[in-house]
Amino acid sequence: MKIAVVGTGYVGLVSAACFAELGHTVAGVDIDEKKIAVLKGGKSTIYEPELEELIQRGLGSGLLSFTTDLKSVLPEVEIVFSAVATPPGEGFKADLRAVFTVAETVARNAEKDLIFVNKSTVPVGTGGKCEERIAAILKERGKTHSIPVVSNPEFLREGLAVPDTLMPDRIIVGINGNDHARGMMEELYRPLTRVGRPLLFMSRESAEIVKYASNSFLAAKISFINMLTAFTEKTGANIRDIAAGMGLDNRIGPKFLHAGIGYGGSCFPKDVKALLQTAKEYGVSFEIVEATDRVNTAQRFRFFEQILAALPSKARVALWGLSFKPRTDDMREAPSLDLIPLLLKAGHSVTAYDPAAMENTEKIFPKEITYASSPMEAVSGADALVVLTEWDLFRGQDLKEVKKAMKGKDLFDGRNIYEPKEAEEAGLKYRGIGIS
Ligand code: NAD
Repeated sequence: MKIAVVGTGYVGLVSAACFAELGHTVAGVDIDEKKIAVLKGGKSTIYEPELEELIQRGLGSGLLSFTTDLKSVLPEVEIVFSAVATPPGEGFKADLRAVFTVAETVARNAEKDLIFVNKSTVPVGTGGKCEERIAAILKERGKTHSIPVVSNPEFLREGLAVPDTLMPDRIIVGINGNDHARGMMEELYRPLTRVGRPLLFMSRESAEIVKYASNSFLAAKISFINMLTAFTEKTGANIRDIAAGMGLDNRIGPKFLHAGIGYGGSCFPKDVKALLQTAKEYGVSFEIVEATDRVNTAQRFRFFEQILAALPSKARVALWGLSFKPRTDDMREAPSLDLIPLLLKAGHSVTAYDPAAMENTEKIFPKEITYASSPMEAVSGADALVVLTEWDLFRGQDLKEVKKAMKGKDLFDGRNIYEPKEAEEAGLKYRGIGIS
C-alpha cells in the first residue's frame, strides 16, 4: 500500500521505517527541514536501536522516502498517518494544534478519497473534531471526497521501538462505521496479523481511551511500588524482595514493579496529566490516576532531598545516565533535568556520562555541567555518584574500581541496579530506594 507518515519523530520515524520494512511504500513527512535532510542521507535523527539499518534499507529499496511537502505526496497515497507531537498545553491539556494542522492540510489539498489515521496520543473526541474540520474544508472547496478519520494509537516503547512495531502485543484500530477504511487497515497490517499479532477493531472513542488507560495503568503500577518504598525503608524491609514476591503472582506479574525515582519520558507524565484534564472536562474524577501523578513527583524529590542532605558542601557529583530511560536519547521529563539545577543551585558541580543522551543534554546545559567520555571518567575525583538511568553499561561496572577512582564514597542508586552488599564491600556507602 502507499502511505504517508506525517511527523518523523520517535513514533513517526519508526512507523515509517517499519511500514517500509513490511513492504509498503512510505513517504515520511516533517516540517523540520534539517531532520528531513539528515534522513534523506540515510542517518537516523534519533538514537533507537536497529532504526538506522531499516531507514537505509528502505531508502535503498525505494520503498521509503522523505519530504517536507505533504501536499506533493497526497496524490500518491491511500492513507495519511499523523504522528505529530501532542505535548502538554495549557493546564496539561494535550496541545492538538499539530494534529489539526495536518488534518486541515490534507483536507485542503486532497484531490481524491483518502484515509486519515491518527497515531498520536489524543484525548477522546479528537478524531471526531478532525473529521468535522476535514468535512468543513471539503465543503468549502466544493469537494465530495471521502476522508474518514481512524484512530490507531501507538504503544511502542522507546529503546525497543523497532521490535515493538514489528511484533506489537496488539494493534488497536478505532473506526466509526466505515467498512472501506476497516478493509484498508486490515490490508495495511496483514503482514503482522498473518504472523499472529492481534488486531482489535473498536469505536474511535474507545481506541482513543485505550491508549490513555494503558499508560495510566502502567504508571499506577510504578507509583504503587514506589509508594511502598518509604515504608520499606522505615520497616527494615527490602522493596526488591517485595516486588519479587508480588510479581510471581500471575495475576500481578513482575513487570513495572521496579522501584526507583519514578517514571519520566514523553508519554507517562503527559498522558497521566492529560487524562486527568479530560476527566475533569467530563465531570469525572480519577482518584487513582491523581494519586499516581502525585506519588511520582514526590518519589523523585524524596530521593533528591536525600542526596542534597548527604552531600558535603561544594561537592563534585558524578551522574550516570541523563536520558529518562535506557536505550534512548530522549530527555523529555528526564529526572536529570530536575536534579541538575538542584545540585547547581546548592553550589555543587556535576560531571555526567550517558551513552546516548549527552548531545541532547548539551543543548539544555551547554556549559553548566561537564560531560565525560566514559563512566569511569565521570566518577574520577567525585565526592558522590548518582545513578539516574539503568543503562546496562552501568550495571556491569566494577564498583571496587569506581571507589578507587572517586574521592568520596557515596553511591546513590536511583534505579536499584546494584546489590547493597556488593557496593558496601567495595567500600562505598550505598543508598538505594526502598532498601533499608
Ligand atoms: P516527536 O516530538 O518526537 O515527533 C513529532 C514530529 O512531528 C517532529 O519531528 C516534528 O517536527 C513533527 N511535526 C510537528 N508538526 C508538524 C506538522 N505540522 N507537519 C509535519 N510534521 C510536524 O514526538 P513523538 O515522541 O514521536 O510523539 C508523537 C505522538 O506519539 C505523540 O502524541 C505521543 O504522545 C505519541 N506516542 C509517543 C511515544 C514515544 O515513546 N515517544 C509512544 C507512543 C505514543
